Amino acid sequence: NQFDAIDSGEEVTSDDYTPEIEPQPTWCPGCGDYSVLKALKGAMSDLGRDPEEVLLVTGIGCSGKLNSYFDSYGFHAIHGRTLPLGRAAKMVNEDLEVVAAGGDGDGYGIGGNHFTHTARENHDMTYIVFNNEVFGLTKGQSSPTSPKGHTSKTQLKGVAKDPVRPMSLALSAGASFIARTAATNPKQAQEILVEAIEHDGFAHVDFLTQCPTWNKDGAQYVPYIDVQESDEYDFDVTDRREAAEMMHETEQALYDGKVLTGRYYVEEDRRTYQEEKQARDEMPESPVVGQYFDDEKEWE
Ligand code: SF4
Repeated sequence: NQFDAIDSGEEVTSDDYTPEIEPQPTWCPGCGDYSVLKALKGAMSDLGRDPEEVLLVTGIGCSGKLNSYFDSYGFHAIHGRTLPLGRAAKMVNEDLEVVAAGGDGDGYGIGGNHFTHTARENHDMTYIVFNNEVFGLTKGQSSPTSPKGHTSKTQLKGVAKDPVRPMSLALSAGASFIARTAATNPKQAQEILVEAIEHDGFAHVDFLTQCPTWNKDGAQYVPYIDVQESDEYDFDVTDRREAAEMMHETEQALYDGKVLTGRYYVEEDRRTYQEEKQARDEMPESPVVGQYFDDEKEWE
């Protein structure tokens, strides 16, 4: 690990992620984004990760300001492009802890294509999506996760489209760790971020964040239920079919005013893209095209 040299042996605290000259946050009072910042700092401290080992790539939107208040390597990307940038950084420096973060419009709308393919390829990184169901920075337009009928300045008669179902999308695309947490649940949020960052592969965290300025009636204010702690729910997070059913129920419940959170899918034994690529780079080329092969196969 190239970072061994910078390991000072000292305990890492949340304060190590606070910039020396701390800018005054420009988020509105009561914004859920403060909770993401706190949970991410806490998770890095729990993991003992030195800020110099971490790259935080953010997108455009209120959420994109995260790396102004988080002191690690950072890249403020253009809209919807956090994931290809994070992937590229990880490809050239596999020791880097890469976290990408952006809003639901950035991740599920503008960057939706990158979301699908980064999940499919199982790149080893963590993706936090601030899901507040609006485009907050640009004054509250409806976003891909706004429920049907949601009104905004651009949708005065209510949205006519069904919302994106982020966890179901991540599962069908191929993400190997999928969870949902909420700004109203800081303890769970920090624990889930620890697990997501530790996970080898693409970890998707749909982080429900309230936007008191533009989405006062969002479901994000309702007390959450933790599906791992509640007796009402019993499913195996390693079983794709059971996870799919639970995600479907959770995503529907949100639009019925019930907030379910927790871990939904964890696939541990799948190679990351980097591992798969490395194994294939060491293989001989196939003598013919149009065949499928893995690195166990011997060519005749
Ligand atoms: Fe947060 Fe909404 Fe204000 Fe943006 S507009 S900082 S999302 S409360």
